[in-house]
Amino acid sequence: MHIEVKNLNKHFGSFHAIKDVNFSITKGHLVGLIGPSGGGKTSILRMLSGLESPTTGDIYFDGKLATHLPVQDRGIGFVFQSYALFKHMTVFDNVAYGLKVLKKPKDFIHDRVTYLLNLMGLAGNERKYPHQLSGGQRQRVAFARALAPEPQLLLLDEPFAAIDAKIRKELRLWLRNLIDEFKVTTLFVTHDQDEAIEVADEIILVQGGKIEQQGSPWEIYTQPASSFVASFIGESNVISQYTPLIGFPYLDEIQQDGKWLQDVNVLIRPESIEVRPHDVSHLATAGEKGKVTHVHFRGDSWYLEIDTGALKLFAYQSVKEKIYQPGDEVNILINHISVFTKTENIVI
Ligand code: ATP
Repeated sequence: MHIEVKNLNKHFGSFHAIKDVNFSITKGHLVGLIGPSGGGKTSILRMLSGLESPTTGDIYFDGKLATHLPVQDRGIGFVFQSYALFKHMTVFDNVAYGLKVLKKPKDFIHDRVTYLLNLMGLAGNERKYPHQLSGGQRQRVAFARALAPEPQLLLLDEPFAAIDAKIRKELRLWLRNLIDEFKVTTLFVTHDQDEAIEVADEIILVQGGKIEQQGSPWEIYTQPASSFVASFIGESNVISQYTPLIGFPYLDEIQQDGKWLQDVNVLIRPESIEVRPHDVSHLATAGEKGKVTHVHFRGDSWYLEIDTGALKLFAYQSVKEKIYQPGDEVNILINHISVFTKTENIVI
């Protein structure tokens, strides 16, 4: 189902929670709705579901007005953070529930539930009750139950929030494959930006009831629309005042009328910083001089803190490369920076 949201506003009493929000979701896409706590993610999700009515604005499903359609007529599947399974029902009956409500024939229900439980890797658990399953298994039952009636839209509200970090990572990939298999339009609310980057076709970042940016994970990561987006997605060194550095390749562009722009935020992704052994003879071309102040191992890379005198920066070093020690002198070369004025953006 193609989703279109136009000029959506929500007031809770005098509080303006959602402010003129517009977005669309392409049929079959998985969209990550992310942002800080209280930003408006759940309110948007609830208005799409019909559990909450917008104060003004409209929602269209496949071009048809759906703003005030009752929940049960929207063709939506839900999965929430807390495993909202029916505790007194078996796994089979939980998954069959929506199909029984739709009065589907018994054989059809049996085949569909069996197919879904197989797909979810849950075959053999049909007669178990939710309390006999692990957290990850329960969430997979919740997905099977949501998908059983063939929803046109799947709404996920922090579905993996209560699950261990390792299983949670496995479930990300599993979810991506599941959505590809079912080709169902999905809106996925998550606090976890890494989760959104990894699984989503598109990300919508909301803050203060407004959309800060919508785009593919790659676009949002590499072309953030504001310093807020840049610091929310991924990691950055944030420098609130520009300091001329030899290692910066974009010196001229941060000058206006021959003066350094002062009122800016400069963001440098750690992976944009190249660390090299200190080389006195080629200092001007080899980058800025710095001293390693802290090193620790991250599993897939080394975390380095470097003090250039003017700046304290952090960078990652591949495990295959030379390992620096605190106290080592190094040269750093910065391959890319993003510069934002405090009021509007100039992205370099
Ligand atoms: P979280 O990540 O913490 O779940 P969120 O991004 O989902 O947050 P919402 O739950 O949509 O944010 O809330 C957006 C704003 O609207 C918050 O300031 C919240 O306090 C307010 N709000 C939400 N529901 C109500 C309500 N029923 N009555 C009053 N204010 C509400």
